[in-house]
Amino acid sequence: MAHKGQCFCGAVQLEVTGEPVAMGYCHCNSCRSWSGAPVNAFSLWKPEAVKVTAGAEHLATFQKTPFSQRRYCAQCGGHLMNNHPPVGLIDVYAATIPTLRFSPGVHVNYAETVLPMRDGLPKLKDFPAELGGSGEAMAE
Ligand SMILES: [Zn+2]
Ligand SMILES: [Zn+2]
Repeated sequence: MAHKGQCFCGAVQLEVTGEPVAMGYCHCNSCRSWSGAPVNAFSLWKPEAVKVTAGAEHLATFQKTPFSQRRYCAQCGGHLMNNHPPVGLIDVYAATIPTLRFSPGVHVNYAETVLPMRDGLPKLKDFPAELGGSGEAMAE
């Protein structure tokens, strides 16, 4: 199954194919600051599943840390995705691909939350161990 997405102005178009590796919410400071929202709803994809289909020349990157290459449209400033080279995955923001049925499985960086969400899903203090985190769970 393919899902089409675009930036705020539509200049950059993309398509994701197949199923995401994982979906959930990130509560970290960086995601909040970058998105201007209390949480980031993420969907993680293998790089080969993500294709920019139009406007690649408008796709800009801001990299503050080695873990995240944040990609946005230089025309409208709209955020599209976040490439994570160390783990070989791309977070295509759930809001970027509206037809994706968002079904979150985990909360990450919950130690930094400003919006506690009591939904019964696992709450990780930082990242899962396989992504270099402590893998430690927290109470809601
Ligand atoms: Zn745009
Ligand atoms: Zn985050």
